[in-house]
Amino acid sequence: MQQLEEYKKEITAYSSTDEKSVEEFRIKYLGTKGIVKAIMGEMKNVPNDRKKEFGQVLNEFKTFTEQKFESLKSQATDHQQSGSDIDLTLPGDPVPLGSRHPVTLMKNRIISIYQRLGFAVAEGPEIEDDWHNFTALNLPEHHPARDMQDTFYIQQNPDWLLRTHTSNTQIREMEKGKLPIRVICPGRVYRNETVSARSHCFFHQVEGLYIDENVSFADLKQTLYFFVKEMYGEDVKVRFRPSYFPFTEPSAEMDVSCFICGGKGCRICKYSGWVEILGCGMVHPNVLENCKIDSDKYTGFAFGMGIERPALIKYDINDIRLFSENDVRFLRQFTSAV
Ligand SMILES: [Zn+2]
Repeated sequence: MQQLEEYKKEITAYSSTDEKSVEEFRIKYLGTKGIVKAIMGEMKNVPNDRKKEFGQVLNEFKTFTEQKFESLKSQATDHQQSGSDIDLTLPGDPVPLGSRHPVTLMKNRIISIYQRLGFAVAEGPEIEDDWHNFTALNLPEHHPARDMQDTFYIQQNPDWLLRTHTSNTQIREMEKGKLPIRVICPGRVYRNETVSARSHCFFHQVEGLYIDENVSFADLKQTLYFFVKEMYGEDVKVRFRPSYFPFTEPSAEMDVSCFICGGKGCRICKYSGWVEILGCGMVHPNVLENCKIDSDKYTGFAFGMGIERPALIKYDINDIRLFSENDVRFLRQFTSAV
């Protein structure tokens, strides 16, 4: 009896969640040559008058051992299922970080400035019909200004082309007939031009359009002045040069004082002290009428700028083709750029 008490203590103290040790427990206590069987074998040596009492104690011991075995077994299974052999304190596997494309960085910067002025972002199709890309913009067929924007046509249908500017989105916004309109239109555009370090057959633009009652050239100047100050700093100067676009009248090109040399003259400004950054003007009444907007009641201004050029200057890149060559060594350099 003394021996049984000791076995009980030993069994109670037995603890393992390892399947192998649980099996060792089974063999030691419950196996065919195990302790429980051996003690049961002792029954034959017990005097008859104590057999009943002894049998009860032995049965109790057997049940006790079996219960312990069941409990050890289920602990081992739970342990395996919870997968806690994974060490959560180990450092994680590194996830390689990508970088934003320099054109995207510049585009986002431009958009965020105009958004603060209340401009919403509008997007339109890159494959466009003649009306939205040319005719509605006061560029009828055979108009000489179309030569400035030679593009790619879709062979099956000569009315389809790759847009030469994001102005098609402006037309689509005006056609919706909801006024006033205050949108910027970022996107990719195409021109049939020879690819070189300075120009490509596709590039990106952000155009803007504001139409309401009493919009004047003063609003245009103030909006663009705010933009360049946010973009190039408080000290930047601007100048407007008269220009010609079929879709605006009057039209102007806007230059900013060179933000590289401060106006003294450098390679970027070609030693003139000024850098041309965008074209702009008051929306031509014909364009408003083409979109069924009353040009006696409403006026508006529009502007457009390329994204590649300011990005080339900002990041000191000397070849526009690098933007679309998908060279990872080039793109990796922008991992921490803003
Ligand atoms: Zn300069």
